[in-house]
Amino acid sequence: MEKRAPIHMSHDIQLIDGFDLGFSGRTGTYVLQAEKLTLVETGPSPSVPRVLEGLKELSLRPEDVEYIILTHIHLDHAGGAGLLMRECPNAKVIVHEKGKRHLADPSRLIKGAKAVYGEMFDQLFDPIVPIEEEKLLVKHEGETLEIGPDRTLTFLDTPGHAKHHLGIYDPYSNGIFTGDTAGIRYHQTEDYQLTFYLPTTSPNQFDPDAMLQSIDRFRRLKPDRLYFGHFGESQEPKRAFDQVSLWIPVFVEEAKKAMNKEEGLPGIEKRIFHRVHSYLKDHQIPEQHPVYEILKLDIEVCAMGLADYLNKQ
Ligand SMILES: [Zn+2]
Repeated sequence: MEKRAPIHMSHDIQLIDGFDLGFSGRTGTYVLQAEKLTLVETGPSPSVPRVLEGLKELSLRPEDVEYIILTHIHLDHAGGAGLLMRECPNAKVIVHEKGKRHLADPSRLIKGAKAVYGEMFDQLFDPIVPIEEEKLLVKHEGETLEIGPDRTLTFLDTPGHAKHHLGIYDPYSNGIFTGDTAGIRYHQTEDYQLTFYLPTTSPNQFDPDAMLQSIDRFRRLKPDRLYFGHFGESQEPKRAFDQVSLWIPVFVEEAKKAMNKEEGLPGIEKRIFHRVHSYLKDHQIPEQHPVYEILKLDIEVCAMGLADYLNKQ
């Protein structure tokens, strides 16, 4: 098993790489070493051993975790929460009100993920462990959580990627944990001096207008840094917001063209891939770059969400 030490960031934040899909730098768990030890995101269940290993390396005990915050309940972000809770008996799980019941009874979550991921489900996500209701804490728009004397997090209801999505503003770092609302940070091309950002439009609650509004909401907070669900810290929030906001209508337009010509999902994928590919070519990214492996998977899932969105119009 490939190993990686926790990534030390400023403001007492560490990031444990969860190696989702076997890729380093794909999903992670943020550790906020405040008075009340707080985690943001768990990753899927196969990442839980890595989270526990990471805590150990940071000389932290799972028993001391007080809060596990989930930006949203998609399994790559929160699928491991139930399994991790077995090791964190003193923790409460914080979730959007629309996500709560699916953590207590994950049957619909499992069904939905099987529809998207098919036979890969077991390998990617099993087991999905339910969480006792009394351990679940709901946070609404504007509500706060004090995790230290000078550290009170604020929750932002930020739909677009999912209706049950929370952004988390941290005044101590002047940063926002953006989950999937502000897109994906592709750092894999850093070896070519390029970091780029694309929206993630997974099924089945993608809403382009809500996503653009949520991004503007983040923007108005004038953050210095963003902490992405995929993956890591960005110190260029404006560039990230600008790029994702530009790509959202491009993704929708390309999907519309494919639907009008009855090209199906392969058509949507092909068209979006073509657009992203030319962008990367313009930035001198070689054809064989490993980033394409991840992009293919992401675009496949994005295409499904776009088709679902357009079919509902
Ligand atoms: Zn995600």
